[in-house]
Amino acid sequence: MDIIANFINGQYHAPLGENYLDNIEPATGLVYGKIPDSEKADVELAVAAAKKALPAWQAMPLEQRADMLSAIAQEIEARNDELAMAEAIDNGKPVALARIVDIPRAASNFKFFAHACSQFASESHAIAGTAINYTLRQPVGIVGCISPWNLPLYLFTWKIAPALAAGNCVIAKPSEVTPKTAALLGEICQKAGLPAGVLNILHGSGAKVGQAICQHQEIKAISFTGGTTTGAQIAQLLAPTFKKISLELGGKNPALIFADCDFDNTIEQVFRASFANQGQICLCASRLYIERPIYEKFKQALVDKAKALQPNDPLLDDSQMGALVSKSHLEKVLGYIELAKAEGGKVLAGGKQVNLAGRCQKGYFLQPTIIENLDNQAQCNQEEIFGPVITLQPFDTDEEALTLANDSNYGLAATIWTNHLGRAHQLAETLNTGIVWINCWLLRDLRTPFGGMNHSGLGREGGHEAMRFFTESKNVCVKY
Ligand code: NAD
Repeated sequence: MDIIANFINGQYHAPLGENYLDNIEPATGLVYGKIPDSEKADVELAVAAAKKALPAWQAMPLEQRADMLSAIAQEIEARNDELAMAEAIDNGKPVALARIVDIPRAASNFKFFAHACSQFASESHAIAGTAINYTLRQPVGIVGCISPWNLPLYLFTWKIAPALAAGNCVIAKPSEVTPKTAALLGEICQKAGLPAGVLNILHGSGAKVGQAICQHQEIKAISFTGGTTTGAQIAQLLAPTFKKISLELGGKNPALIFADCDFDNTIEQVFRASFANQGQICLCASRLYIERPIYEKFKQALVDKAKALQPNDPLLDDSQMGALVSKSHLEKVLGYIELAKAEGGKVLAGGKQVNLAGRCQKGYFLQPTIIENLDNQAQCNQEEIFGPVITLQPFDTDEEALTLANDSNYGLAATIWTNHLGRAHQLAETLNTGIVWINCWLLRDLRTPFGGMNHSGLGREGGHEAMRFFTESKNVCVKY
């Protein structure tokens, strides 16, 4: 049995209440570990450690701080295979995907912010002949980072790295559904020589330890990635406290596919955008709008590919589709497929749970699923399903495509597939999403602003946006 501990003040600690939650392997459906069911008292311990560590961490020369973040990146790279395997067991994602995406990206997050902190500068504003203003950007202090289960180490470090780079001490909580690689990050920080108390990692449920982190008076900012409903609860909880808050929430991302696209490349990329990580990426395309002249051909090509993609044991090197993250999540996604049928949808491919033989016979596997014939206002086109389920709709004009795409409460990411440059730029300008990819998907440059509009969140991560979030700006005015 794999028993995880909290990482506080540079050491591993059992939860003070000695309560644990089960950790289940999605591919087998079996309990394989225990994780701390931490509570308020554990948060107090972590905050005390962070408070003690803060003055020295803030006073540390920038180069030395950057060197430590680089050392963490190197250690993650050195343990790539082990971390990828841990991620695949914990999350159900294909180990090959974790090896080439999740873990290298976690290393890149530290590498990137090790550099970003040395490039981060602030402004000055002169009042000619009279005075000069300059802006100081100072660390917020102790900050909380709360992350979801879909890209566990990748998104955990996407918050922690800029928070540390900006000179804060961090209390971080990974999802209780996928705690394993976050737990290993403690060892990595020990090896890299990160001073005790600078990063503290607490495990447990959102309702208990997550909320206690949000409510702690000495934690001055909360960076949260997760579901929209949880984001709303946290925003409500924090409103009277005036803490800084960053919310990266759900999505229902449109893909606009035009008849003049590069057909073969678009099929490949849109298929990946739909089903990568079992469709459990906040940026996955889930509503596909296809221009009528190529609708039937595109649909058939997608259906053929979906039928050829069989989920299997994520620990096999050639697995391209693993298990959904949990039983309750599988049931939720299956529920949406039933709802789609009730709403008049026609299932063109998939739609069923997959029962594998051998060690994975109780795993949470689902066929890649394609549905057509749903109204844009159907619940399955308006609510986030967050699984390997896409819907298809034809359109006739650019205006119609835009109207359908923008007809959503969410606003995270959109993709446009066309060779008409003017159309692509014009649509990019008018789509209500924080991110637009043209003829590509998930091509990431860590300097760019990352985040969504409307129910997809508040604020932006990435590059200097993250450095700004994790600092307080103070204007100093000097009269000549
Ligand atoms: P979730 O909201 O259930 O949980 C996210 C995290 O918040 C977990 O660590 C959880 O323990 C914690 N939490 C839950 N309730 C809390 C509370 N009351 N107070 C404090 N913390 C609490 O989300 P999930 O199911 O883990 O993740 C899936 C969701 O995340 C999807 O909606 C997906 O779109 C979204 N997501 C968004 C992005 C983005 O960048 N916009 C990235 C990845 C995932």
